[in-house]
Amino acid sequence: MTDVFSKEKRSQVMSAVHSKGNKSTEIALISIFKSYKISGWRRNCQLTGKPDFVFPKHKIIVFVDGCYWHGHGCRKRKPGHNDKYWKEKISKNKKRDSFVTKELRNDRWKVIRIWECEIRKHKYARKINNIMSLL
Ligand SMILES: [Zn+2]
Repeated sequence: MTDVFSKEKRSQVMSAVHSKGNKSTEIALISIFKSYKISGWRRNCQLTGKPDFVFPKHKIIVFVDGCYWHGHGCRKRKPGHNDKYWKEKISKNKKRDSFVTKELRNDRWKVIRIWECEIRKHKYARKINNIMSLL
């Protein structure tokens, strides 16, 4: 298949993809919600940690965490240059994630974090059941 984008356009598209984080995983989760008839979620709520999905009525928060950036064990990275830099960045993200979860739980939110790989590999049933049991 030929690339429909010019080189410049392609890099613009790619940086847009990166700046929006794990957009495609979030979109996949929306269709999962729909297929389970889960509704009542909002996006872009201004809460601690900028949650991906918020169910205001039921006080549920759902995060979709990218496996690489949030340090999930499923992603084994080959050692390379700048390793220290990335390791520090990822461990900072992990600390921030647990801080955010704790803060939100202190405010009586039920926090559910779904890994990117759970969505990609269709291993989300347990997390979806969790959400449904709270609705
Ligand atoms: Zn993972």
